[in-house]
Amino acid sequence: MHFLYAPHPYRIIFGAGSIAKIAEEAGKVGARALVLTTPEQRGEGERLLAALGAGAAGLFDRAVMHVPVATAEAAAAFASQCDADCTVAIGGGSTIGLAKALSLRNGLPSVVIPTTYAGSEVTPIWGLTEDGIKTTGRDNRVLPRTVIYDPDLTLSLPPALSVASGLNAIAHCVEALYAFDGNPIISLMAEEGIRVLARSLPIIKSTPDDAAARSDALYGSWLAGTVLGAASIALHHKLCHTLGGTFDMPHAQTHTAVLPHAIAYNAPAAPEAMERARRALGGADPATAIFTLAKGLGAEMALANLGLPFEGIARAAELATRNPYPNPRPITVDGIKHLLQRAYAGLPPLSLVEAVAAAPS
Ligand code: NAD
Repeated sequence: MHFLYAPHPYRIIFGAGSIAKIAEEAGKVGARALVLTTPEQRGEGERLLAALGAGAAGLFDRAVMHVPVATAEAAAAFASQCDADCTVAIGGGSTIGLAKALSLRNGLPSVVIPTTYAGSEVTPIWGLTEDGIKTTGRDNRVLPRTVIYDPDLTLSLPPALSVASGLNAIAHCVEALYAFDGNPIISLMAEEGIRVLARSLPIIKSTPDDAAARSDALYGSWLAGTVLGAASIALHHKLCHTLGGTFDMPHAQTHTAVLPHAIAYNAPAAPEAMERARRALGGADPATAIFTLAKGLGAEMALANLGLPFEGIARAAELATRNPYPNPRPITVDGIKHLLQRAYAGLPPLSLVEAVAAAPS
């Protein structure tokens, strides 16, 4: 066995009510915190300002998806105007992405409080968008100093968004299981992440205020983010980035619709990963189990209904096979076109038998 494992040096505080530690934790990182939110979560930001007291520098509530450069510049200007020396971000991947941009460009350290299951808070991955083009990279300077996971703050995440966000997290785990640079610790975390998310999402869908299920799902999203930050991504993420970037499709929902098909495509070439995923999902074929789980939770499974035009299938297949990420099964334009055709129509993924028959020998 050979592997490299380089865990990231962040501090995690997990548990219902742990938001109460925000002033103490922010004080360890800086003296004056700029609070970051989306417009929708401004109320959460105002509560943080009050909790931070003298440690609050101001509130910037204009975080949006994919971190436009103009937004990062506006936030940086505001940070210097109010003399902030750190940020406190509360929200999903969009708000956390803005905190990362301010760490990267302006050297502001952050404390982040995730309220979705996207997992960005524990990855060194940053993204910035300009003129419709999203640039991403990995840089340890964007890692938050402290992450406060408080499941109480996820109770308000609407069930449909919780499902999509949770499946986005499962996708991180699945791809870590077959990443070329994965390792045994990462595989343990990824398998456990799939297990806790798959068991908590149905409870959250039917009972959104179930505290134990919310805690489970947030724990799963920490595992998912950790493995995303530690191992490489493959076909599934490449496809979702291509679809999101080219056709402006919604992030988490696109992950949900593509995931069963990406798993089916890779299954014949990743038997150990599939065995772990199968165990985590209660013994069923992973691609079918994820499709059944998502559909049963009311997720939209047809890319056609998420904004992909029919002509987009060929274009996406061509783009996704250009500079592909390392992937267990060789990526071909025809193979990806076939995968996308099924996902476009919301069909179930190929079974393992069909996938083996379709795989190049
Ligand atoms: P998001 O941050 O865009 O949030 C979606 C909406 O839900 C926003 O309006 C937000 O304010 C709202 N919301 C968030 N939490 C809520 C809550 N608890 N209650 C009510 N409303 C809530 O969605 P996301 O899926 O978390 O993030 C997507 C973005 O994150 C994408 O840009 C994606 O590329 C990025 N991302 C980055 C990484 C990384 O490692 N860098 C990982 C995953 C996702």
